[in-house]
Amino acid sequence: MSKLQALKNFRFPNVFILILIVFISCALLICINFFTIKILSANRAYVNGESHYSKGQKDASRHLLTYLYTKDSNQWKLFLQELKVPQGDGIARITLLKAGDNKIARNGLLIGRNHEEDLDDIIWLFDNFKQVSFLSKAIDEWGKGDKLIFRLFIIGQQINAKIDRNLLTAKEQQYYLKQISSLSDQLNSNERNFSNILGEGTRKIKDLLIISNVFFILVIVCSVCLYYSIMVKRLLVSKKETEVKNENLIIVNRELDRFVYSASHDLRSPITSLKGLIEITALEEDVTQVRNYLEMMHQSLARQDQFISDIIDYSKNKRKEVIMEPVSLKELFNEAISQLMHIENARKIKFTQELEVDHIESDGLRLKIIINNLLSNAIKYADCSKQEMFISIKTYFSDGLNKIEVTDNGIGIHDDHKENIFDMYFGTNKNKGSGLGLYIVKEAVENIKGDISVISENTIGSKFIVTIPNSHGA
Ligand code: ADP
Repeated sequence: MSKLQALKNFRFPNVFILILIVFISCALLICINFFTIKILSANRAYVNGESHYSKGQKDASRHLLTYLYTKDSNQWKLFLQELKVPQGDGIARITLLKAGDNKIARNGLLIGRNHEEDLDDIIWLFDNFKQVSFLSKAIDEWGKGDKLIFRLFIIGQQINAKIDRNLLTAKEQQYYLKQISSLSDQLNSNERNFSNILGEGTRKIKDLLIISNVFFILVIVCSVCLYYSIMVKRLLVSKKETEVKNENLIIVNRELDRFVYSASHDLRSPITSLKGLIEITALEEDVTQVRNYLEMMHQSLARQDQFISDIIDYSKNKRKEVIMEPVSLKELFNEAISQLMHIENARKIKFTQELEVDHIESDGLRLKIIINNLLSNAIKYADCSKQEMFISIKTYFSDGLNKIEVTDNGIGIHDDHKENIFDMYFGTNKNKGSGLGLYIVKEAVENIKGDISVISENTIGSKFIVTIPNSHGA
């Protein structure tokens, strides 16, 4: 198989699929990056919020302790004020868990000293990721912290009630001090857990982001490389095709030049000989001689006629499209034999036919050209010195192909000529033909993607075998 054929047979994947892959990958990459940045930014806001929560809780505990020992009402106010920070976050958490009003949640978060611009991200992450493992664990810790804050608030209320009524004893002071310290410790641990869980989640998200970015970038790079390699291959194929076409054009041009030159020469030569014959006939008085001259004129005209019909075949073969149609080989052979009976000695030849294949699907015009030329050659080059002259025609189906065989016991082809018989204008006897017959046959066979071969022995006879593909055997 030629390189060009191999390149042609190579099936290219559809480049539009590659473009689509690149497009989808880019879109996914943009979406993944956008949402990951949003998640990471929301995580940062949560960590920020946690630090306010923690600071609020610590300040509140501090003010409550001072209030416990100083009974300064200012400290009580400051306690309530600082406690509002974790309480505001707590209200936001409960509202968001119940998928309640975002306004209340926003207010709560603002009281929790979260930055106004972070609120959307905090609420968005809560709404969409509250079921996701890391956030659900963090919300859990947050919930536990809120319960402790509520207990701190209750202890504050108890202390305030006792101070108001002047009932607070030193023992109770010790008791509340222990309670507040224990609550602070628990809250500290809660807050640490909350931050750690969020930190862990952030790290995981970052790893996922890197992996997905690398994956999609690889997909994009591979698709683009494949796209370019396909395009380069396509360019190479079309370049090769153009080169082959150019080479063919050069060959065709050369053939055409030769054809025009030889055709004009061959068309003129019978006319020149006719003119000569007419001139000598005009001077001739002997009737028998005149008849001889007339016979020679007839032969000259017959040659001219044959040559013109060859040119017509040549042009039809070149010009007309190959049309696959039902063809009867038997009819083509019978028609050709009856048309060729005028050739000298044709009637002395015995024709035999063994047609195993008759109806096939092929190009009728080309088959007619092939059969006519092979039979006319077998008749023209019959060996009159032989006692019995025969031409045998066979058709059969072999290896999935239809075959035609035309065998004769004519003069055969000399070994020196075998290589050239299919060339344009190659003929061993200019009186018998134009030298175009087998050239046209070969072109016609190639047009129907068939094949032709010859087996011949000088003085013994010749066998031409034509293979016709793409046909439905009889
Ligand atoms: P031509 O018009 O000269 O017959 P072709 O192209 O048909 O031209 O044939 C080329 C040459 O091949 C012929 O001149 C002849 O020498 C040889 N040839 C073709 N067919 C036969 C055959 N059946 N028997 C012997 N020679 C043949």
